[in-house]
Amino acid sequence: METEEVRRLRRSKFLFFFLFLSSTLTNIFRSVGPPARLGWSRTAAEEAEAVAALTCSGHGRAFLDGVLVDGFPTCECNTCYAGSDCSELVADCDADADSGDPLFLEPYWQRHAASSAVLISGWHRMSYRTTDIFISAELEKHIRRLHKAVGNAIADDKFIVFGSGSTQLVNALVHALSPDNATLPAAVVATSPYYALYKLQTELFDARDYEWLGTTSKWSNSTTTATKDFIEFVTSPNNPDGMLLESVLGGSSVIHDHAYYWPHFTAIPAPADEDIMLFSGSKTSGHASSRFGWALIRDQKVYNKVREYMQMNTMGVSRDTQLRILKLMKVILAEKEGGEDIFKFGFRTLTERWRKLNDVISSSNRFSLQKISPQYCTYFKRIRDPSPAYAWLKCELEEDKDCSDVLKKGRIISRGGTVFEASSQYSRLSLIKTQDDFELLLQRMAALVSESGIASI
Ligand code: PMP
Repeated sequence: METEEVRRLRRSKFLFFFLFLSSTLTNIFRSVGPPARLGWSRTAAEEAEAVAALTCSGHGRAFLDGVLVDGFPTCECNTCYAGSDCSELVADCDADADSGDPLFLEPYWQRHAASSAVLISGWHRMSYRTTDIFISAELEKHIRRLHKAVGNAIADDKFIVFGSGSTQLVNALVHALSPDNATLPAAVVATSPYYALYKLQTELFDARDYEWLGTTSKWSNSTTTATKDFIEFVTSPNNPDGMLLESVLGGSSVIHDHAYYWPHFTAIPAPADEDIMLFSGSKTSGHASSRFGWALIRDQKVYNKVREYMQMNTMGVSRDTQLRILKLMKVILAEKEGGEDIFKFGFRTLTERWRKLNDVISSSNRFSLQKISPQYCTYFKRIRDPSPAYAWLKCELEEDKDCSDVLKKGRIISRGGTVFEASSQYSRLSLIKTQDDFELLLQRMAALVSESGIASI
């Protein structure tokens, strides 16, 4: 027979065991997180996975905010593909090599779907204020880390300003570098062939303290440079020809646009350390849609003016965008250490595209491409082949005065040389779009070359 004392002992042992178990479970829960059971985020996750499951035959993709048909998400097809599942190749469709849409990186992010997804709650950062009013301190930290890890820019001794794309920062910097109360407006210039936006934006804003004054070649031997303030854009590597450039005028106000100074597109001979440097999220991770760019600025006065511009203009970059870019930066940094390095993937893709295009064009004397030599790259620690974002194609024949028109007749859409204030005998072909875009471009280029006769073998 069990005495009352034995029963009490057994009850207290059981209570002790129960308390021990529940405190152990609480500790485990605290250290490894909740069990794999989702609460409020579950529907959002299910919706995201449902659209991602639409493969669109590998020639398109579906989006959460895409058009619904009968309540179901639909495919958005690559250029020249159609049908509800994007499986139909459209006959006689023009190969579109015009824009610098960085979709060559889309397969990378599809492979890294799990680590790169972000879920935005309904109450995520509703305030105008972020940690530093406009800027996510964590994102700033990660951008500095990325520059250090890639070795493409010295960021530690510079201020950082974020923009809605580097596009927004172009005018912010021109404004900040223009002298206060000067009698003459500052001259804004670039070296041809140059990225057209510098001119278009400067003329659009049509301000009293700066004006667009054309290419540096007009001013490099002029005495005006001694009496007038110049703001020079230096794009390195250059859009359209991929060359690593330096300032021509050598003045104090130079905006170094390093949108393409990443190992996808160029060798990195040394970290850039100029006073004002511009970078673009569109060309770093490929997320042009998020509209994110940043400037590294050495001088505090210039930084203050750019910040003030941002305050008046948009009150900083969307906090939703900053959250997404932070996640992407974390993935890029983590994958670099033993995972799938985005820069290796980007380089491999573009160097192969460049080689294939060169193979096609080398058998023609009607067309030629810019020459880029293999160069030592501190990132890959070896001499590497070129992998430019764009081909700067020249139509060599006297009668082919308008190269983009020649290409258009061959069913290729390109961006003509005059857009870059260069000769119309040149045209730019984008190599950073989807694989479908590139393959169609290559086919059309091969057809044009064979139609023109093989002459230089
Ligand atoms: N600078 C250069 C040289 C570019 O080619 C581009 C985009 N094609 C930009 C700036 C603007 O980039 P974003 O506004 O997307 O950051």
